[in-house]
Amino acid sequence: MKALVMGGGMAGLCAASDLCDFGIQVHLLEATGILGGRATSWVDGDGDTVDNALHIFMPHYCNCLGFLSKVGAEPPHWTQGITNYDEGGRCGLLPIGGGLRTILQAMRSPTMSVIDQASLGLAILASALMSKEKLDACDDITLLEWFKRHGVTRNATAHFRPGGAGLTFLELNQVSAKALLYWTSSFINKEYMLNPGIGFANGGLGEIYVEPARRYIEERGGKVETGRRVTELLVRGNEVEGVSTEDGETVTADFYISALPYYELRRILPDQALDYRYFLDIWRLEEAPSLSVQIWFDRFVTDMRNIAAQMRGTFNCFADMHTIVPRFAEKATGSMVEFVLTPAFHLRGLPSERIFALVLEEFRRIMPAARTAEVRKWMVIRERQGIFAQRPGADRFRPPQRTPYPNLYLCGDYTKTFISAGMENACASAHIAVGHALYEHLGKEATLFSRPTLYNSYLKGGLAAGAALAGTALAARSLRARRKGRRAD
Ligand SMILES: Cc1cc2nc3c(=O)[nH]c(=O)nc-3n(C[C@H](O)[C@H](O)[C@H](O)COP(=O)(O)OP(=O)(O)OC[C@H]3O[C@@H](n4cnc5c(N)ncnc54)[C@H](O)[C@@H]3O)c2cc1C
Repeated sequence: MKALVMGGGMAGLCAASDLCDFGIQVHLLEATGILGGRATSWVDGDGDTVDNALHIFMPHYCNCLGFLSKVGAEPPHWTQGITNYDEGGRCGLLPIGGGLRTILQAMRSPTMSVIDQASLGLAILASALMSKEKLDACDDITLLEWFKRHGVTRNATAHFRPGGAGLTFLELNQVSAKALLYWTSSFINKEYMLNPGIGFANGGLGEIYVEPARRYIEERGGKVETGRRVTELLVRGNEVEGVSTEDGETVTADFYISALPYYELRRILPDQALDYRYFLDIWRLEEAPSLSVQIWFDRFVTDMRNIAAQMRGTFNCFADMHTIVPRFAEKATGSMVEFVLTPAFHLRGLPSERIFALVLEEFRRIMPAARTAEVRKWMVIRERQGIFAQRPGADRFRPPQRTPYPNLYLCGDYTKTFISAGMENACASAHIAVGHALYEHLGKEATLFSRPTLYNSYLKGGLAAGAALAGTALAARSLRARRKGRRAD
């Protein structure tokens, strides 16, 4: 049995590796010269690692982390919380998940009052306790509206903004509440309780998983071709009978898995595909572009140990990879800071020199040590489809993995699961697509897709009650302190 996988990003590599596990002869076609798609990196002529973009892993990424470990990739390096910088350069820690140490540290934040923290904590807990139906209904409103309804203070919302924009590439008043509540509702999973962290690839993202994945596929008889673009999907009747490639050849298989971005899929679909609502809906998806900037300094300008965010400015999240990532830290002689610039609609028309200058100026404002350091090198990387735009109402247009053609399946971060766009959905959707293909073409039932472990409802209830009590106690304490302060005045 032969399968053709189109696209060698994380979803395509994950699907191809799954197919190999079941003895299927896999052929993967990737248009560009390197594998990994948006989640990749390469080494440039100076020997420096260039990341296509700053990527973080979350503890609940069970499909993605499972794929990395299966192909023998090195596990991520885990860090704690997000350090938030305000305009004055003051910073405080925003905890992610249930880590007691980070929560306690965060309570001493100079930029967030206890009330701010309690309002955000309670809203996050409320999202974690929501049923699937309630979460689905949140696709009709923006996250900002949802936060207002749940009493999140203005300052807490401002602290949440850079992380939210960094994850979805939209402002909180543009993004579907469902898309972001997916992340916050994951914080109650067992994985966060055991490891309340944010993971970084221990080295360039491409280095840690792309070559191991290629090796995994090839050692099991698969064929991986780069620099080979699919230009047309050839359909006869209601079946795919092959694909044309840029070099004018036709490649055939028993079934086909598209791991292409949705805008590339639109280009290769034949006209008759538009007879189906399923394919027409793919035209309703829009892109949310991103920009990444990487700056190499001639000395260390931070001692960062975790990801940071700027509350207002051109970039939102940033990380000094040479101080955070152990493999880089071993031999680095200066900082290498990666910045995520999202939303990027208003910036993408600017020349790279201007974007770099804006980022450097803002970075020097919040990081004094960078003011005297020389920039050794910089790079601006543009991604047309940072992530598909998860605006209110967009979720219903995401296509599921089975298509109206019985031998064509779709996977990729935009395809529909309960997971929002990102690496976890790239892998989860690949597992689902392969699961369907195995069942329908080989008669094999296999559940490759996994869900994070949810704590049971008693524990949820207990947590909710505990957090409500803690929130009330903290609010009362803060009110008492304020009254005391006023009396002293
Ligand atoms: C700036 C930025 C930051 C991000 N940060 C995070 C993060 O912190 N955490 C997270 O989970 N996710 C993050 N993401 C999202 C993550 O990168 C994507 O969700 C994931 O890589 C998508 O994988 P994919 O395989 O679905 O798609 P892609 O990576 O887009 O792969 C599609 C592949 O298909 C190939 N292709 C296209 N057309 C053709 C054709 N005609 N023929 C053959 N091949 C073709 C492409 O070259 C590409 O290799 C980030 C993305 C960006 C841009």
